[in-house]
Amino acid sequence: MAIGKIALIANPAAQNGRGSWAAVEAASHLRARVGDDGFRLLLTERPGHAMALAAGLGEEVGAVIALGGDGIVNEVASGLMERPAAARPALGVIPAGSGNDYAATLGMASSIPRAIDQILAFRTGPADIGRVNGRYFVETLSFGLDAAIALDTMERRVRTGRAGTRLYLESAVDQLFHHLEIYDFALNVLRAAPGLAPIYLKGSCYLFAVQMGPTYGGHFRITPEASLDDGLLDLCWATPTLTAKRALAVLLAARFGRHTGNRHIHFERAEALELSFGCEPPAQIDGEKIEGDHFIIDCIPGALTVIFG
Ligand SMILES: [Mg+2]
Repeated sequence: MAIGKIALIANPAAQNGRGSWAAVEAASHLRARVGDDGFRLLLTERPGHAMALAAGLGEEVGAVIALGGDGIVNEVASGLMERPAAARPALGVIPAGSGNDYAATLGMASSIPRAIDQILAFRTGPADIGRVNGRYFVETLSFGLDAAIALDTMERRVRTGRAGTRLYLESAVDQLFHHLEIYDFALNVLRAAPGLAPIYLKGSCYLFAVQMGPTYGGHFRITPEASLDDGLLDLCWATPTLTAKRALAVLLAARFGRHTGNRHIHFERAEALELSFGCEPPAQIDGEKIEGDHFIIDCIPGALTVIFG
């Protein structure tokens, strides 16, 4: 398959302005490889702009590259979903954000020139996309403790300009030891995974994650078996009672996907589900805050064509 024209969408304001350097670097490497006519650099001017840019791409564009973190990937993918399925260019990612979980799921290199090599090799495949109350997510939707950590990490990142796993862990320790809350929830599986019975259960949890890919929060392997193209949402939740110390140990184990045997950790898979909470929990999709206490969630199989590393 020919790659067609490439559109590179970047947020110059990302990472306290470092996004513009990443855009310049990516554009100069692309220019060297495909020439001025082979690509177009589109810079976002405001939140939500990447979605409009992706939705409005011309038919000559065969690949759209989101340069940045999970936030801009989410926007670009959401823009592609506004187009008819047959008119969605392939989605590639050059990781240049602070949360690069989707890029890792696709197997992208962290250096810009190497990621461009991978994109130009154009190894594509289908990927599912998740939808919650009408909004799309590419990698992660989560509620409770992990969303609180993700949102607090983002707030610290903006405030301090720092990034990385260490910042996430600082946030995690603060949330675990000072804000460890329990959320009552009801899970109603609307469409079960093939071969599984639909379930309805009420319970309480520290966190509830609904995953497309295996990781969140900067490469924590919360659902290590999750696959982007199985048509299923991978669910993981953690139930009481854990002390803050034990919860921290479970979280650290989750960094490497080694939390799966713990009796407080539960997994399910489903095509569609309804999730209700007794009170509004902290919630995030692909690192952005969302609000509400009642969520209808489904998986749209093979909605995107993605470029793998
Ligand atoms: Mg899946």
